[in-house]
Amino acid sequence: MSSERVYNFSAGPSMLPLSVLRRAAAEMENYGGSGMSVMEMSHRSKVYMDLFQRVKSDLREVMGIPESHEILFMQGGATLQFAAIPMNLMGRTGSADYAKTGVFSKKAAAEAQKYGEVRIAASGEATGFDRIPEKSEITLSENPGYFYYCSNNTIFGTEWNYVPETGSVPLVCDMSSDMLSFPVDISRYGIVYGGVQKNMAPAGMAVVIIDRKLLGGEAAYTPTLMSYEVMAKNDSMLNTPPCYTIYMLGLVLDWVREHGGLSGMNELREVRSSMLYDFLDGSRLFKPFAKKDSRSKMNVTFRTGSEELDAEFVKSAAAQGLVNLKGHRLTGGMRASIYNAMPVEGVEKLVAFMEEFERSHR
Ligand SMILES: *Cc1c(COP(=O)(O)O)cnc(C)c1O
Repeated sequence: MSSERVYNFSAGPSMLPLSVLRRAAAEMENYGGSGMSVMEMSHRSKVYMDLFQRVKSDLREVMGIPESHEILFMQGGATLQFAAIPMNLMGRTGSADYAKTGVFSKKAAAEAQKYGEVRIAASGEATGFDRIPEKSEITLSENPGYFYYCSNNTIFGTEWNYVPETGSVPLVCDMSSDMLSFPVDISRYGIVYGGVQKNMAPAGMAVVIIDRKLLGGEAAYTPTLMSYEVMAKNDSMLNTPPCYTIYMLGLVLDWVREHGGLSGMNELREVRSSMLYDFLDGSRLFKPFAKKDSRSKMNVTFRTGSEELDAEFVKSAAAQGLVNLKGHRLTGGMRASIYNAMPVEGVEKLVAFMEEFERSHR
């Protein structure tokens, strides 16, 4: 094992900023003079309640979340929301429209089918999910309860470069792998949600940002802990919340603010992703997987065309401290996940290594 920190290109859980880890370490044994770790304190104590409220208001400020929308911290990751969303929202009309653009939206649609009628409004399946459907390819059904899509497809490395227009139909978006990396006009959405372990915090919860108008329509069978209205009424503290994950989110939010907020994050993701795509476009060995207008700024997927060469690349990159570059089994090849906490220097090192690998393998 190495004593040095590596550049970790994992799709998630993923890198956290080093300064955040150091602050957490410094506060580990005695948080704010309380004489205990955040891990050890009662979630009802004043010191924790103050922390909790500060994280919530910081998230509201950093993401520009309007007062029309409630912030919920829920356990079960993004995947539990695949069920919670239809349970809470489908009752309005009994059906919902889904855009299938990758693994997670496909899973979400399959889960929703248990609770009502799912109509596929658009799908990228025919071309192996290498692109996002254009506006003209989206067909809304009559009176769906909501329209669901996933803004960044973590596995295939594709990303919506526009917000679908759905009129009065509430827009629901899985932003698990790009939340907090660019400014979002939350007022356009019924729900924006995501598991936090990609860009925001260690694993352990989902952030659900919901228009208060959508609260209260859940099916009678909805488990109490999955009811958005109950969670909103109890300020996400019906039971013990994921206390430490929420604390870590607070540290990450401070770090985001120190780096220019969401516009700063957006600039950084442009720098990181264009560095990689510019190299890929000029490469004669590596080929990008996603179609040009659908490329993700968070997960860059590419391959050489030879499985042996891909494996050799992943292995030799790891020996240089560039780890977790193996692609998902569905795409094969490589995937570089370059979330908020990936230093630009890490991407520079990766591109330099790719150049060197290309020179020695052509
Ligand atoms: C990682 C991911 C998920 C699954 O998240 P869990 O928290 O593990 O349930 C869902 N959607 C997207 C877009 C993801 O990237």
